[in-house]
Amino acid sequence: AKRLGGKVAIITGGASGIGAATAKLFFQHGAKVIIADIQDQLGVSLSKSLANHYPAAANNIHYTHCDVTSEPHVENLVDFAVSKFGNLDIMYNNAGIIGDHERLPAQDSSTKDFKRVMDVNLLGAFLGAKHAARVMVPAKRGGVILFTSSIVTVVGGLAKPAYSASKHAVVGIMRELCMELGEHGIRVNCIAPGPVPTEMMKEHFKIEREVAEELLKSKAAVLKDTVVKEEDIAEAAVYLSSDEGKVVSGVNLVVDGGFISV
Ligand code: NAD
Repeated sequence: AKRLGGKVAIITGGASGIGAATAKLFFQHGAKVIIADIQDQLGVSLSKSLANHYPAAANNIHYTHCDVTSEPHVENLVDFAVSKFGNLDIMYNNAGIIGDHERLPAQDSSTKDFKRVMDVNLLGAFLGAKHAARVMVPAKRGGVILFTSSIVTVVGGLAKPAYSASKHAVVGIMRELCMELGEHGIRVNCIAPGPVPTEMMKEHFKIEREVAEELLKSKAAVLKDTVVKEEDIAEAAVYLSSDEGKVVSGVNLVVDGGFISV
């Protein structure tokens, strides 16, 4: 059954990985979807291929260039959704980077890289939420704001300080906005994925997807032979965005195949 019929959704970082899988699943569940990213070629080809696959809904999928660190870009993105589809129901702030210093010990990391990670992962996420609230509150039709945090918000040892700090801070934004926007019927949640073998993971491990999957299988001992895929995170996003999740707000939902219990 279609669980997001008629809903209007924006997904940042929607051209690749978790965002792309979520764009596809939201669209398949009947949502009108705007994929926002800085990888224009990937974003356009994803939106074209979904439109070709489901010709009856071809007008319900769009790609828009948006660098989430630029407030005018984010403002335009949200205004575009409203002008194109009449309103905004779901804002998924998912764009993120791991940062160069991910591979460096703290003493060798740079301030420039620290600030860049904060800009994309933290300011970018806040700007998305801010502009979503700007249109959702006066529209008086509720709404859903989602963020992609990470299991680094629950356990240490998986990432470097800037990345981990940025994701902890996103959880802080989620908690505050959950309290602030609840009276307007707007639900605000995070999804905290465990390791998912996306481009970001490839960058982190410097290995191919197949090798990453084997590595993750051997580490995720709780659920036998489990690798958490992009599609698994997308399912959580559908749950939190749909009426099935209508009483859920203020959570940092871990989706990791039991990884952090090991
Ligand atoms: P990915 O690299 O496949 O996708 C990230 C997307 O964000 C890319 O398409 C990229 O172009 C886009 N992006 C980067 N900077 C941007 C900017 N300034 N403006 C707009 N878009 C921008 O990686 P992914 O694993 O799908 O990452 C998605 C989210 O999931 C990130 O927030 C990441 O931190 C988080 N996450 C990933 C994992 C994992 O193991 N893969 C685990 C926990 C959390």
